[in-house]
Amino acid sequence: MFDSLSDRLGGVFDRLRGRGALTEADVRTAMREVRVALLEADVALPVARKFVDDVTEKAIGQDVLRSVTPGQQVVKIVNDELIAMLGPDTAELEINVSPPAVIMLVGLQGSGKTTTTAKLAKRLSGTERKKVMMASLDVNRPAAQEQLAVLGQQAEVATLPIVQGQQPVDIARRALQSAKLQGHDVLLLDTAGRLHVDQALMDEMKAVADIAKPAEILLVVDSLTGQDAVNVATSFSEQVPLTGVILTRMDGDARGGAALSMRSVTGKPIKFAGMGEKLDALEAFHPKRVAGRILG
Ligand code: GDP
Repeated sequence: MFDSLSDRLGGVFDRLRGRGALTEADVRTAMREVRVALLEADVALPVARKFVDDVTEKAIGQDVLRSVTPGQQVVKIVNDELIAMLGPDTAELEINVSPPAVIMLVGLQGSGKTTTTAKLAKRLSGTERKKVMMASLDVNRPAAQEQLAVLGQQAEVATLPIVQGQQPVDIARRALQSAKLQGHDVLLLDTAGRLHVDQALMDEMKAVADIAKPAEILLVVDSLTGQDAVNVATSFSEQVPLTGVILTRMDGDARGGAALSMRSVTGKPIKFAGMGEKLDALEAFHPKRVAGRILG
């Protein structure tokens, strides 16, 4: 991941560090190269532009250029800004509410929502020892509810029994009741995806959220779709009160643009990264580690 971006930035940094003194023009030239590297990694244009402007301002506005190691200082500023762009800390799930804490997963079809629901359920019931139940509200995609039931068996997590013909809001209501009765700590709701963002999808999510009062609404997006992932996240965050993002297929994402742009564009933290198809391939998203990987 981030190999090409990392190489490009490494080259820019070597040139900066290699010089004893730096002029303002040197910094501007280096930052132009950083900007191209970010855009090639598929970082959203406004994000790349702001990043470079912020770094440039800090690098030439302070006493950096007159310091003993100006190159080193500029590299440090880039590092700090990169961490700020990714989000300063790992964002935890906020599920300390009276049980069951409801986590809604939303997103487009094929983004990895159902798999991620099961991964999250497995993680919460395993390492975090919560009593977890999952329910699929996806009545559009044939066999979506069955798919979650199969994943539930693999993850050894309870799933709400399927009642054919029931609509999402009614399934949510039944799931909530059932989770309460059976003393579950967490209820994960896998909502229906669509091929594109559309109003019916948004209305359905809002209706479910009204009933379920989720502690978390997590948007699942495919990191491989780059800037599209960011556009999808922007559309969703305008309509539903998202609390975070899960980026899937980070295992295959060589460029990293979605990961880098997501927080700046949506204002929401990336909470987890999907790192493969297996149910234990879900990692907490660590901004500092990711920044470290990019900076090599
Ligand atoms: P949904 O339509 O959003 O519910 O998507 P699914 O959960 O059915 O996932 C679609 C495909 O993506 C499946 O083949 C999953 O195994 C795969 N998938 C999901 N998350 C990841 C991930 O993090 N990495 C990889 N490599 N594949 C994933």
